[in-house]
Amino acid sequence: MKKLIEGIRRFRQERRQALKPVFSQLALGQKPDALYIGCSDSRVAVNVFASTDPGDLFVVRNVGNLVSPCEPEGRPKEFDSVWAAVEYALLVLEVQHIVVCGHSECGAIRAAVTGQVPQSCAHLSHWIQQLKEGRDIGEEKLTPGLSHLNLVSQASVIRQMDNLRSSPLVKERLTEGKLTLHGWWFDIGNLDVYCFSEKRQKYELMDEAYLVQMLASGPAR
Ligand SMILES: [Zn+2]
Repeated sequence: MKKLIEGIRRFRQERRQALKPVFSQLALGQKPDALYIGCSDSRVAVNVFASTDPGDLFVVRNVGNLVSPCEPEGRPKEFDSVWAAVEYALLVLEVQHIVVCGHSECGAIRAAVTGQVPQSCAHLSHWIQQLKEGRDIGEEKLTPGLSHLNLVSQASVIRQMDNLRSSPLVKERLTEGKLTLHGWWFDIGNLDVYCFSEKRQKYELMDEAYLVQMLASGPAR
């Protein structure tokens, strides 16, 4: 906690004044580019690997970056933060992109695969049961050479995208061409981001050539 307290102090001393103009604009409202659904893991810092600034992303994070399948006809689930965020992002903020981002060495995936969850973690144990659901994802769609846990993690991102599509609202926006879903996977140790290509049905490394092509062809906007 000391680091956080010192951080606020340092922020007030060194950066607060310079950031005031930006944040006084942000105080008037937000217009984020995308809804980002990521894992709670402290190492998956989208502000670092995607160079995002305050105001760029509407964010919801949970253990394992999971999206529960939507209830029939889009009926509200009991206290589901992801679907609340999806509705707000699409209907109020009118974002046109949703990113689901998984990552390497994910503790939620490890716990689900190995079954090693402390007995006292009843909520966690129940939550990660979701990781066992969904269709089989062929290994040809995943990045070759990854460990079993990381392959499961990449497959899970594809399943969470399926779950997003289970919502009538998401389906409608996709059909109207007003929404694009993006499946990303962050390799912590190598600081690489992979993107699941719907067209080619496989993960692709977002390297310089890929990103230049993506910017030129326009799917990122
Ligand atoms: Zn994780």
